[in-house]
Amino acid sequence: MVSRSIPVGRHCSLFTVHYPLSPVHYPLSTAGSARLARFSFRFLGSGTSAGVPIIGCDCPVCTSTDPRDNRMRSSLYVTLGDKALIIDTGPDFRMQCLRFKVPRIDAVFLTHLHADHIFGFDDIRRYNTLQNNQVIHCYCGHDTLEGMRRIFPYITEKPNTQGLFRPMISFVEVSAPFEALGAKLTPLPVLHGNVATYGLRIDYAGKSLAYIPDVHEFPEPTLDLMHGLDVLILNMLRDKPHPTHLTRERAIAYATQIGAQRTWFTHFSHIMPHADLEKILPPSMAPAYDGLSVTLSRGCLK
Ligand SMILES: [Zn+2]
Ligand SMILES: [Zn+2]
Ligand SMILES: [Zn+2]
Repeated sequence: MVSRSIPVGRHCSLFTVHYPLSPVHYPLSTAGSARLARFSFRFLGSGTSAGVPIIGCDCPVCTSTDPRDNRMRSSLYVTLGDKALIIDTGPDFRMQCLRFKVPRIDAVFLTHLHADHIFGFDDIRRYNTLQNNQVIHCYCGHDTLEGMRRIFPYITEKPNTQGLFRPMISFVEVSAPFEALGAKLTPLPVLHGNVATYGLRIDYAGKSLAYIPDVHEFPEPTLDLMHGLDVLILNMLRDKPHPTHLTRERAIAYATQIGAQRTWFTHFSHIMPHADLEKILPPSMAPAYDGLSVTLSRGCLK
C-alpha cells in the first residue's frame, strides 16, 4: 500500500489517502483498534448503474488495463471509531465485501430506491450473523422505506418458518438530522429525476463529509446544509447532459460553489480514462476509484 498526505494549508495535512496498488491486493483499514479509532472512508464502488466496464462496450475506458477504470456500483464504507456505516448496498455489495474484506456493518443508509443502490441489500444478513445476531439499523427516507418493504417483504414481515437466514433489520425513516454511531447524520434532499433521493452529511469528531452519489440539481436549502465541509463526494456521470445526473462541468461548478477542502467525484460512466480525468480536474478535486481509502486526520484543521 502507498500512503500519501495531501497538503492543506502550510503547516499540516488533513487527509491521508491510501492507494491500493492492484485490484487484487487491497490492504484494509479494518484490523486493529488504532485504525478503528479514526474517521475514514473507503469507496467500495465508484461506477454508474451499469458499472464500468459496461457490458459489450469496447471503448478505451471499458478496455483499459488501469484497475482504476474498473468500477463497481457506487457505495461508500465509513468507519466511525469502532463502528461502521455503509451507504447503499447495490448489486455488487457481496463482491465488494469480499474484495475489500469489509469486517462489520453497524448501520446502513440508503440514498434512494434505484436498483444500483439497493439490490444487494439481502447480503446484509451475513453481518447479523458475524455480529452475534445484532439487529442492524437501516436509515432511509419515506419513499425508500416504502419501496424496501415492497421489494424485500420477507425482511419486514414475520416469517412463517423459523430458522430462515434472512436480514435482521430495524428500518428507521429519517428526514432531518439524527444521531447514530456517535455521529451526527444529516439527510441532504436532492433532485434526481422523479425518485426521492438523499445525500448524507456526516459530522464526527470535529470533521465532516458529505456523500451525494446521485443528483442532477441541489435545492438551495440543501446547499445551506453543506457549509464548512472537509470532504465532498459528488456525482459526476459523463460529459453529455443527462436528465438525472451531473455532467463533469456541472459537478465541478457545484463542487466549486460548495467549497469543501477536498472533493472526490464518483458514480462515473465510461467518461474517460481515470488517468486523464485526474489531470484535468482542479487541484482540490479528484476522481475516486474503487478501493480508495481516505482518513480524516485529527487535530489538524485550520
Ligand atoms: Zn445510481
Ligand atoms: Zn465503454
Ligand atoms: Zn439513482
